[in-house]
Amino acid sequence: MLQRPIYLDCNATTPIDQRVLKTMLPYFTEYFGNPASITHQYGWEAEAAVKKAREILASAINATPEEIIFTSGATEANNLAIKGVAEAYFNKGKQIITIATEHNAVLDPCGYLQNLGFEVTYLPVNTDGIIDLTALETALRSDTILVSVMAANNEIGVLQPLAKIGEICKENSIIFHTDAAQAIGKIPLDVKEMNIDLLSLTAHKIYGPKGIGALYVRRRDPRVKLAAQIHGGGHERGMRSGTLYTPQIVGFAKAVEVALAEIESEAKRLTSLRERLWQKLQTVGDIFLNGHPTQRLPGNLNVSVEGVDGQALLLGLQQVVAVSSGSACTSAKIAPSHVLASLGRSEKLAYASVRFGIGRFNTATEIDIVAEHAIATIKSLRQVSSLSQKSKVNN
Ligand SMILES: *Cc1c(COP(=O)(O)O)cnc(C)c1O
Repeated sequence: MLQRPIYLDCNATTPIDQRVLKTMLPYFTEYFGNPASITHQYGWEAEAAVKKAREILASAINATPEEIIFTSGATEANNLAIKGVAEAYFNKGKQIITIATEHNAVLDPCGYLQNLGFEVTYLPVNTDGIIDLTALETALRSDTILVSVMAANNEIGVLQPLAKIGEICKENSIIFHTDAAQAIGKIPLDVKEMNIDLLSLTAHKIYGPKGIGALYVRRRDPRVKLAAQIHGGGHERGMRSGTLYTPQIVGFAKAVEVALAEIESEAKRLTSLRERLWQKLQTVGDIFLNGHPTQRLPGNLNVSVEGVDGQALLLGLQQVVAVSSGSACTSAKIAPSHVLASLGRSEKLAYASVRFGIGRFNTATEIDIVAEHAIATIKSLRQVSSLSQKSKVNN
């Protein structure tokens, strides 16, 4: 069998860690009960597993178990947070503030609310991808009901100053939501210290299963009200109905537990792999880092390459390494990334960009292979384009 490319797309998803899988398996078969069944042992077993998972997740962000609402992932958690607040607080106001580099799972619910009559302010970011706190303070109004700013960006890995944003929101009594899908298990998160009121999580970016996530909903100082978006049996304190998916929940908690146990050593290791890759790539010249050089996720490196065609670059890399580009296919049409555009990157450089997402199972040897191949690809593409330039001049 042909060897598969080296996987360096850990900001898109990650494989399940064996330790996580092992914890999940009995809950598919032996302990299959419905956690909502209160009349027999099968239900109690599942309920006990969910309770323990809830405790683990709550303590990971310094919350209480009652503040954790399970969802199908971060997309649903963001939808519940944003639409849920808009619906519950529309009497108070209609302005929502967010930033231009958010994931579509935040931008699209905001756009949906705009169509319903809410006003959404999209704050720009600086060339490093970081929010301007003065602009945030200036944008606040008496009818602002929600500020939603992500913890870590999925494309460029940039970390936003959550504690400072939380402080500003707290001073102005405005609800603060953060999408922490990329941040959990990679950087410390503390909802109390950072004054976070709503926080979205997902398992599959940290070696847990796909299809499970959670929303943290603050219960005191202040108690945040949310309008449910999925109605049914009244699960999750009425905020999100549907039978709880016990194996995924157990796996989610285990994934967070494992990530937190290794958080410091892994951050150090991934940062050094990232720097190793970046040092090597820079030898080709005219290559630019997207996003802040140090205020970023340990494993994320996003670069734009001058003098190559973006499409050709990806094709050239594909056989050896699985990465993402700075352009996303939205309904069959290729558009340059809105995140890179927000940093002020030209359309051409936004197309010619690569996101390397380094993760738990990557090694220094793999980084060296990828670097060598990327350098060779860039050099040969530049040679081709300079040859074609010359022939154009000659004709
Ligand atoms: C992956 C991701 C999401 C979507 O999470 P799902 O669990 O796949 O729905 C939302 N926001 C960010 C920042 C992400 O990286």
